[in-house]
Order: sequence, then C-alpha cells, then structure tokens
Amino acid sequence: MSKLTVPQEGGCRCGQVRLKISAPPIITMACHCTGCQKMSSSAFSLSAAIPAEGFEVIAGEPVIGGLHGATRHYFCPHCLTWMFTRPEGMDWFVNLRSTMLDDTNGVAPFVETFTSEKLPWAATSAVHSYEAFPPMEAFAGLIQEFAEQAS
Ligand SMILES: [Zn+2]
Ligand SMILES: [Zn+2]
Repeated sequence: MSKLTVPQEGGCRCGQVRLKISAPPIITMACHCTGCQKMSSSAFSLSAAIPAEGFEVIAGEPVIGGLHGATRHYFCPHCLTWMFTRPEGMDWFVNLRSTMLDDTNGVAPFVETFTSEKLPWAATSAVHSYEAFPPMEAFAGLIQEFAEQAS
C-alpha cells in the first residue's frame, strides 16, 4: 500500500474550506452503510481516522449537516461537500473523508464496514471486512496491524 504524506492539506470541492493534517491516520476505512451511500452520493464513504491533535481546519467555517445528531457531520457551507465527521463520544480522532486530501496516495481502505448493506457490485481492496461495525474489542488489533503495514 502506498503511504500517506503528512503534513499535508486538503479541501472541499470549491476550496472555501481548507484543512491540514499533521499526523498519519490511525486507520483507514470504507463504509458501505446506506447512510454513507446517501451522504456520499456514492457506493460507500471513505475515512481516514486522524488523531484530533493532528487535524486542523485552516480556512473557512464548516457547517453541520447530515443527521444533525450527536455524531457531527461537517460540510463546506458553500459547495456542501461532506468533509469530515466527529463521532459521538470519540473526541480523540476525526474521521476525515479521505478524498478531501490533496494527495490521495495511501488512503486505500484497510477495513470495510457494513458489507451487509453494500451494493452488490461495490468492492474495495480492504484487508478486513465486517458485516456491520467491527466490535470495539477488535479495534486495538486492527489499529496495530494497520500501523505495521503502513510503516
Ligand atoms: Zn466548498
Ligand atoms: Zn456508514
């Protein structure tokens, strides 16, 4: 797998919101759930989980969109690109939509989730597949394995 460059910047479709990552992802994922299909207007969403201290919005002011629930989905206020998510109760990382990055080398999903809801033809190169969300106890192992193959 190619490596993700840090630090690097990224942005929305129109460029009004720009962001910067200064830490490599903890893990990369693709989610096939129907919610992600709707919000991404595509077959699945892509995530790079960036440690919160390594993630910064450097231009523009993202707005809340999606379900407006406890998990906060952030969008560009102008082009309405879905840019990143702050999951409920997990302040220590930000789920960046991987294709926001200026250099998308190294964003291939390591894990795919909700294959139970995936479109029949949708396929990724993920190494691990889960029918729903991986059980919490699986994450430590997945994160360690991701770190090993990324180094
Ligand atoms: Zn925009
Ligand atoms: Zn999803």
